[in-house]
Amino acid sequence: MRIPLTRIPFLRIVLSLLVWTIFNSVLPASAANWTVRAQPSRMVNGGPVLFQVKPPSRLQSLGGTWLGHDLVFSYDAASKSWFALAGVSLETAPGSYALALTGETTSGKVPGTKTSFSRNFAISRAKYPKIAVKLSVEGKFTEPSPEQQQQIAEGQQVKKDYLNRVTPEREWSGDFTAPADAGISDVFGSQRVFNGKTSSPHLGLDFRVPSGTPVAAMNGGTVLLARPLYFEGNFVVLDHGQGFLTLYLHLSEFKVKEGDQVKRGQTIGLSGGTGRATGPHLHVAVRWQGTYLDPARLFSLQLPSRGN
Ligand SMILES: [Zn+2]
Repeated sequence: MRIPLTRIPFLRIVLSLLVWTIFNSVLPASAANWTVRAQPSRMVNGGPVLFQVKPPSRLQSLGGTWLGHDLVFSYDAASKSWFALAGVSLETAPGSYALALTGETTSGKVPGTKTSFSRNFAISRAKYPKIAVKLSVEGKFTEPSPEQQQQIAEGQQVKKDYLNRVTPEREWSGDFTAPADAGISDVFGSQRVFNGKTSSPHLGLDFRVPSGTPVAAMNGGTVLLARPLYFEGNFVVLDHGQGFLTLYLHLSEFKVKEGDQVKRGQTIGLSGGTGRATGPHLHVAVRWQGTYLDPARLFSLQLPSRGN
């Protein structure tokens, strides 16, 4: 009768030590214990992504680069992991892209030592609807007068000055929620046609609401803009930190002013049809470090709360 080698306790210990030694010599020590997850697991162009990182040792800070953007991670004591909310621009081609991480250690022989890790993630192409919508807008929006051109230029300058701002610290906490409890009249990424001319993709989400409907902040943050612009009408922009902004257009009334702190669900204004709008509706947008993301995909992410 033959006794399997693994039945002999001494040999089992030797074998497992051997396996352990081989495993650790093949993988770099720093790479062995990093856990890096992404939500959603299937990433698409135009979609947001939450990265969750568990490093092998305690860190005092964690940063990263992703698709040419700098990420600042925030620590969540409850799950002993680091989080950063990021995104994939609509223009990003399908493929495999690296998330490069660099942390500073708190313990060990030399505190403050840099430790790094990299992991690749696959990005696939999202299917966004191509619906040609015949919209009739007032003539002033297709052929602006010199005075209107001046107003348009002023609006473009305001957006250039404010919409690419990145506040590294996160102010958002928990899930992003819809700004109104209403039907969707146009989704993100759809192609529209204005007076026979195909415009760029729709970079926001439209809610079918009558004028005067309360508009809720999608998450906690600071009011970056609350002013009228030519195309946007009465325009509110909230800064949620980590490079995330939410935009609310065509409002009939402001309920906040620039610099105010707001909580998720707080009324920031009333819906309307100001600016370039065919009628009363609520257009909202999500901007991350200079690129627009799909608000509906952001609402479906389960995000950690701050301070737990
Ligand atoms: Zn819209």
